[in-house]
Order: sequence, then structure tokens, then C-alpha cells
Amino acid sequence: MLNRRLAGLGTTIFAEMSALALTTGSVNLGQGFPDTDGPPEIAAAAAAAIMAGRGNQYPPGPGIPELRQAVAAHQKRFYGLDVDPGTEVLVTAGATEAIAATLIALLEPGDEAIAFEPYYDSYAACVAMAGATRVPVTLRPPGFRPDISALRAAITPRTRVILLNTPHNPTGAVFSRAELTGIAALACEHDLLVVSDEVYEHLVFDGEHVPIASLPGMRERTVTISSAAKTFSFTGWKVGWVTATPELVSAVRTVKQFLTYVTGGPFQYAVAEALALPDAYYAGISRDLRAKRDVLCAGLAAVGFGVYQPAGTYFVTTDIRPLGETDGMDFCRRLPDRAGVVAIPSSVFYDTVAAGRSQVRFAFCKKEEVLREAVERLTRYRA
Ligand code: PMP
Ligand code: GLN
Repeated sequence: MLNRRLAGLGTTIFAEMSALALTTGSVNLGQGFPDTDGPPEIAAAAAAAIMAGRGNQYPPGPGIPELRQAVAAHQKRFYGLDVDPGTEVLVTAGATEAIAATLIALLEPGDEAIAFEPYYDSYAACVAMAGATRVPVTLRPPGFRPDISALRAAITPRTRVILLNTPHNPTGAVFSRAELTGIAALACEHDLLVVSDEVYEHLVFDGEHVPIASLPGMRERTVTISSAAKTFSFTGWKVGWVTATPELVSAVRTVKQFLTYVTGGPFQYAVAEALALPDAYYAGISRDLRAKRDVLCAGLAAVGFGVYQPAGTYFVTTDIRPLGETDGMDFCRRLPDRAGVVAIPSSVFYDTVAAGRSQVRFAFCKKEEVLREAVERLTRYRA
């Protein structure tokens, strides 16, 4: 029944693998969600908003003023960016809706959208929904650095959008200022829009997060997307946001109106408070995750995986060839039964599937004992 444009999209690998984790009793290092909720005072703020009747009826379409102001204040506080909360912020149902609404709003059928592969699965789906064509530029191990000359070569007269994601899921690469400057120069030269997915902006262990909108010439051509999910460990709340010029925000809002109309009211009040948490909170989440990264990376390396150490995000990409394996999809389908661990085959994030065939992604946004249990199970399996 699915229309031809969307043929082949099927069930997301995350849902498939999380279901498999449940039925096999496996440690789930597949889908990226933390096993510990975010700050209790922020959860209490959501509960208090519900009980006080704040946001229980349709909130304003662009988002409640408190949250739009908090997003603008966040962009100023961390990046020195001036964003007008009245016209340059749109609250969305997670970054997922922001990506969908943005791509549907900006792309015409026949347009091309360039994305660095491996890429997050919703990009392909949303480019397809817009009737456009995705054009991959491959990030290659060990560093998964963006190749600016490959990007230049991928640009055609039909290119409309460069879809960027830094810190990058699934590789954990954090694009440097110099790399982003190279991407920005091409966007300016060819008059392209950039859609920048920055949901992991605060989960950086090495280097710094640079929003491409902060580079010269980019503010007017960038739609910046982020979300409360990862920064505050509330992936179930689905509160995200877009910041861009009034013209771009208005285009995205036009689509959002007819996707969800508005985003859950009480959560918006809580996220407005979360964004104002002190610097110690933000430093704390990346410090905690770095420790988890180190535990899982060391454990996987000891088991025999090739480990590409991530500089940010929830994820580590591994190479299974040192284990004598070649096909990540096959490996991940067998792993729950054999080892009691779930991981994601990175090939699902590639158009050029061969490039990622032997890569497997593990999530480390889990309690340390859970990570150690997964490593123990993998060690026993390999013994
Ligand atoms: N972009 C990337 C790169 C992601 O990893 C995720 C996480 N699911 C999202 C967007 C979606 O974020 P949200 O949960 O806020 O919709
Ligand atoms: N972003 C998460 C991941 O990459 C999962 C989100 C989802 O299930 N759609 O694993």
C-alpha cells in the first residue's frame, strides 16, 4: 500500500532492534536512549505544569513564549548567536518533526539534498517524502572527517540543501571549525541552504561544538535544529526546536501546522526551565557520558572489535572484521540470541551500503553496570 516514493522504508531499525532486545532478554545497546531519566526537578516542573493547568490545552503554534525565549537565550549563552524569540524560533515535536517539516518545506520534487553518510535514518525518509533525491557524501573511517572536495563534486545545479549533523550520529565525529568553514564556503558559493541537526550539541567529549549558523554568511541560509531529548535525557518528551531567519521559520511553521499543529504544552514549560540550568549541569552530562564512552570503548576493544573512538554523541562505531566477521546486518541479527546484546548495523545508515557493511554501532548512554554486563556477555560469546 505504501506509495512508491516511500517504498522500502519499512520499520525503522531502532524499533526492530529494541523489540528484539525485549524478546531475547538482551542488553539493548541499539536504540539511543538513556536508561536514566533527566533531572528530577525538570520532571517535577512538567508534572507541576500539568497540575496547574499550564499547557493542557493547545499551546501557541510556534511554541510557548517562555520556551522560545529560553531557546534564544541558550543560543546566545553558548554560541553568542542573536535569535529573535518572536520570529526566529519554532518549537516542534522533537527534532524528528523539525527535520521533516524543514525538508518538506524547503525541497521541491526533483531537488537534491546532500547528506554525509552514514546518516540518521529519518533523513532519507523525509527527503523522499518531499519528493527530492538524496545525494550521499561518504564519511570514512577511522576519523569519519567530511571530505570537502567530495562535497564540492556532489553539488549540481539541482542541489538545494546540505543536510548536516554534528556531533554526528552514528560515527560520533564532531566537525571542526575548519571543516564547517569549508562546508559554509561551498554553501555560500552555490547559494545553498544548510539544515543543521545539532541534537548532540552538548554531548561533546573532545573538541567543541560549532553551530554552522555562527559562521560568516551562514545565519541567513541555515536552519538549525535541536531538541531536549539528548541534552536533558528525556527522549520520550518529544520537544525540539528550529532556529532560523523569520522567512525560513515561517516556511517550516507552515508545514508543522499540518503535521502536529502544536507540540505538547506542559513539557514545553519544563524544557524552558531545563535550558536555563546552570553550566555545571551541562558540564556534568558530557563528563558522565565521556566516562561511559571510555568504559564501552575499552571493553569492546578488549573483546576484539576495531573501535573508532567517538568525540561526541551516544554512540561508538566499531569494525567487526577483526572478529572474523564481515556483514554487520547478519552479525547484529545473530548477536541477541548468541550473546544477549543488541547493536545496530551501520549499513542501514548508508546509501553506499558497501562502505558500512562491516560497521556496527553501540550506544553507551546506559548505566555503567549495564555497559559492563554487555562487555562481559560479548567476552563470553567470543571465548
Ligand atoms: N537527529 C539525530 C541525529 C538523532 O540521533 C535523533 C535521535 N533520535 C534525532 C534527530 C531525533 O530527535 P528527537 O528525539 O528530538 O526527535
Ligand atoms: N536517535 C536514536 C538512535 O539513533 C533513536 C531514535 C529513534 O528511534 N528514532 O538510535
